[in-house]
Amino acid sequence: MPSDTRPDQTAQRTDVVIVGAGPVGLFAVFECGMLGIKCHVVDALETLGGQCSALYPEKPIYDIPGYPRIDAATLVERLAAQAAPFHPAYHLNQRVERVARRDGRWLVETSAGARLDAAAVIVAAGAGAFGPNRPPLPGIERYEGRGVHYLVRRADEFRGKRVVIAGGGDSAVDWALALVDVAARVSVVHRRAKFRAAPESVRKLEALAAAGRLDLVVPYQLARLEGDGASLAAVVVATLDGEERRLPADALLPFFGLAADLGPIAQWGLNLARNQIVVDPATCATNVPGLFAIGDIASYPGKLKLILSGFAEAAQAAHAIHPLVFPGAALHFEYSTMKGVPQA
Ligand SMILES: Cc1cc2nc3c(=O)[nH]c(=O)nc-3n(C[C@H](O)[C@H](O)[C@H](O)COP(=O)(O)OP(=O)(O)OC[C@H]3O[C@@H](n4cnc5c(N)ncnc54)[C@H](O)[C@@H]3O)c2cc1C
Repeated sequence: MPSDTRPDQTAQRTDVVIVGAGPVGLFAVFECGMLGIKCHVVDALETLGGQCSALYPEKPIYDIPGYPRIDAATLVERLAAQAAPFHPAYHLNQRVERVARRDGRWLVETSAGARLDAAAVIVAAGAGAFGPNRPPLPGIERYEGRGVHYLVRRADEFRGKRVVIAGGGDSAVDWALALVDVAARVSVVHRRAKFRAAPESVRKLEALAAAGRLDLVVPYQLARLEGDGASLAAVVVATLDGEERRLPADALLPFFGLAADLGPIAQWGLNLARNQIVVDPATCATNVPGLFAIGDIASYPGKLKLILSGFAEAAQAAHAIHPLVFPGAALHFEYSTMKGVPQA
């Protein structure tokens, strides 16, 4: 791991950087806040909530203490509200790329250029940073952000454009329905005729295709892109037998789900066991002093990958970090009922 002792004027100073804004990272903001520790939180996703938001926002969870049943998205909202009185700074849509020891503290650098200077780092990174599953098309990266988009922020960006949507799940079908009245033409490419989306949405999609309002290009898969490297001209699709079709296009929206990638974390000198970080369960400290790990990414004997285990680990880590943030200060254990919380 690199070490650097130069003074750094540009980094934002805080007490703790939390890598990952999943449920456990969010609760760590609260636990740190209760001990007077300020946090910055970085996540590769553009929303809070980790797996709860990315994989199952509408599913009910039944094993959060005190909630007989709570939708994953609602749990995330509640956790964000619980963290809010401690004013965390969120850096979303960017990955933590590097952590380096600097003058006894940590310098954390993100893919968007944020530089954060902290006494400790809590890695609450789940299974790793979420990112889109990219179709294996030669040269696709040249068009990403200008023609190829894995996320739609505003439907209006595609007004009057010829849009090719690839995929057979809810995102592909929902965006086809949303863009049909906005885009000049929508084509939906899927490797088979059956879609894995909500039945009502699939019925609407098929009705629009039958009415000639959009094209269902099935059973085809993406084969290659055509364009001058700056703007897209066409998407070429092919059947398994190799029969090709050329779809003139201004935009390609591939919706093949999200994949988690441990990515840079594997380079931080941490003891890893099967893609998890080995920690001391009493403190959640890793083998690298000042780096802690909690939630799904933390490993110790008997570890259960449950949100409630991660919540307890957040409390352990916050207490273990207190002396790093406030050297020499006594930490008296107190219940939240005694301390209360600041007003949001
Ligand atoms: C379908 C499904 C149902 C589930 N049901 C339940 C249930 O009923 N009860 C239960 O307790 N658990 C359930 N789980 C498991 C639960 O979701 C996880 O235990 C929980 O999300 C772990 O939280 P976390 O904060 O540790 O990690 P995550 O939720 O995985 O969040 C980690 C975050 O870190 C970010 N990240 C990683 N690396 C970086 C980096 N380098 N830079 C920036 N950001 C990074 C990721 O983008 C991600 O947002 C379920 C999981 C699934 C998939």
